[in-house]
Amino acid sequence: MIKADNITKVFGKNEVLKGISTTVGKGEVVTIIGPSGSGKSTFLRCLNLLEEPTSGQIYINDEEITSPRVNKMEIRKNIGMVFQHFHLFPHMTALENVMYAPQKVKGLSKKEAEQIGKNLLARVGMTDKEKAYPNRLSGGQKQRVAIARALAMEPEIMLFDEPTSALDPEMVKEVLDVMKGLTETGMTMVIVTHEMNFAKEVADKVLFLDDGVLLEETEPNTFFTNPSTERAQSFLEKVL
Ligand code: ADP
Ligand code: MG
Repeated sequence: MIKADNITKVFGKNEVLKGISTTVGKGEVVTIIGPSGSGKSTFLRCLNLLEEPTSGQIYINDEEITSPRVNKMEIRKNIGMVFQHFHLFPHMTALENVMYAPQKVKGLSKKEAEQIGKNLLARVGMTDKEKAYPNRLSGGQKQRVAIARALAMEPEIMLFDEPTSALDPEMVKEVLDVMKGLTETGMTMVIVTHEMNFAKEVADKVLFLDDGVLLEETEPNTFFTNPSTERAQSFLEKVL
């Protein structure tokens, strides 16, 4: 479903991605792990064209999305993204946040969008907070609304950039549980995370990024028990 071919990204003189190639199959869950500054977010942002790769190609369903002829908005409709810091619209209720894109981008009626919004908020356990504004929600609740909002466009792919890193510890589980539920629906997911147990449990494949290089691309059991590079080994010793 996703193919990245020799992706590089240079910011000024800083080569942040040094030729990343990988594939993600339909329904696969891939986690990206690695030290801070290794290029995880940049790579994820390349996948939905929030960043433009300096060189290399990205294909979604065999269509080259890095081609200059591609309509970026069309591509992004199919790829939901969830950020560390939620990015909810502060002046809209939880339900309005979820209803916004289906109306604006898909042109659904208010009634149709409301039905979708209510269903999705139920799915993330937020029915009783439909009318709450973001500043009245906890971090975990905000992130669950953000997930519902991303799902409202019915994307084929969901990208998550450290979705639990800004949360108090007691709220991490409620968000991971929602994500776990999503993996069971067959959603194709790419997840940057520091939650090693979660990665171990849900990932089909772990990508280990270090200094812009994809050092390992391994099935999680092997990665967590017997990584092949010293860099991954010393990283895991620090975080496990
Ligand atoms: P990670 O998510 O693994 O912590 P990032 O992808 O955020 O890493 O960043 C990798 C490197 O790219 C860092 O050195 C960071 O400073 C740099 N970087 C990221 N975004 C930009 C940007 N928009 N402009 C300049 N440098 C950037
Ligand atoms: Mg990051």
